Amino acid sequence: VNELGRELKRRIEFEGPIPVSAFMQAALYHPTLGYYRRSKPPIGACGDYITAPEVSQMFGELIGVWCVDLWRRMGAPKGVHLVEFGPGRGTLLKDLLRAVARFSPFRESIELHLVEISPSLRAAQKRLLRGETPHWHDDFSEIPPGPAIVIANEFFDALPIRQFVRRQDGWFERCVGLDDKGGFCFVTALKPADLSEELSARERPSQAPLGGIIEISAQARALAGDIAARIARSGGGALIIDYGPSRSDLGESLQAVHRHRSQEILARPGEVDLSAHVDFAALAAAARAEGCAVFGPIPQGVWLERMGIAARARALKAAARSRRPAIEAALTRLTAPTAMGLLFKVLALVPPKLGSPAGFG
Ligand code: SAH
Repeated sequence: VNELGRELKRRIEFEGPIPVSAFMQAALYHPTLGYYRRSKPPIGACGDYITAPEVSQMFGELIGVWCVDLWRRMGAPKGVHLVEFGPGRGTLLKDLLRAVARFSPFRESIELHLVEISPSLRAAQKRLLRGETPHWHDDFSEIPPGPAIVIANEFFDALPIRQFVRRQDGWFERCVGLDDKGGFCFVTALKPADLSEELSARERPSQAPLGGIIEISAQARALAGDIAARIARSGGGALIIDYGPSRSDLGESLQAVHRHRSQEILARPGEVDLSAHVDFAALAAAARAEGCAVFGPIPQGVWLERMGIAARARALKAAARSRRPAIEAALTRLTAPTAMGLLFKVLALVPPKLGSPAGFG
């Protein structure tokens, strides 16, 4: 057991089993030992996982095209905040900025804001975005007032979830406790939870099978609501890309990944990445409640094809013959249903009067 594990064990001995969300919160965000606070950067070939912008420059470029289109629909205003949540190594933003370099009116109208809590990734972003003057924030509430174009790729999946198990007599929260040998184990709360609000809002199957699990992220919903409220009030739009089903469904998706391999969820907290499927239906409902129009979620492969990824791939292949196989492989990886094309979804939030943003039909 590592240092954070010992700390969590003492906490459980003291206060009893803790909700899965509390375990996830500590494992990812403990001030010094949490996964996103440690010095080792998580993303890339020598990290724990690879994300779409790291697969190909085409991903960030097409998001750049989406932003310019949105900005024109907004009436090409000056002083727009371009906000990226969890920019990772900064790759998406770098590719985006290169792609929009020719659109100088857009380029001159945007101010960059990065919401990032990892010190090592902030440093990586600073290096990659040399020559730019982004502002870093810990939290969305720090973004100054005004219209905002918001991008979040593989961000919402990191936000802590609570899990509830269906029993004969109701839904019971799943918690983390200690087994006979003092190791972490899943246990179920003794008393049922009142989920009437969540369940009605999310059109859950009323007859969930016994043992069925639902996952609820209060943080993800609250953030989608905050982003939507800002957009409905001040203008702009948001593009949220992540993995998960398009409708809320039953099932456990919490997973641990380390060096590109699946791990035991409760072992080595803070050393492995924990994430869960994003409940797009819940995000959409939270955004609508704040007055935004919602487009999608649609599969990432469909969205990228509508944004012109095939033409972009052809142009790149024509420019660099030796890179043809690599470009072709990246295209397949991003769009094929058996790779990232179907599990990953794209959701857009815009003010109702703006109409359908690029790639949504
Ligand atoms: N968007 C990037 C990185 C995805 S990994 C890419 O596609 O490659 C998740 C990112 O979100 C990391 O940069 C991580 O440090 C950051 N992050 C995770 N939780 C966060 C939180 N609660 N607040 C701010 N940043 C967070």
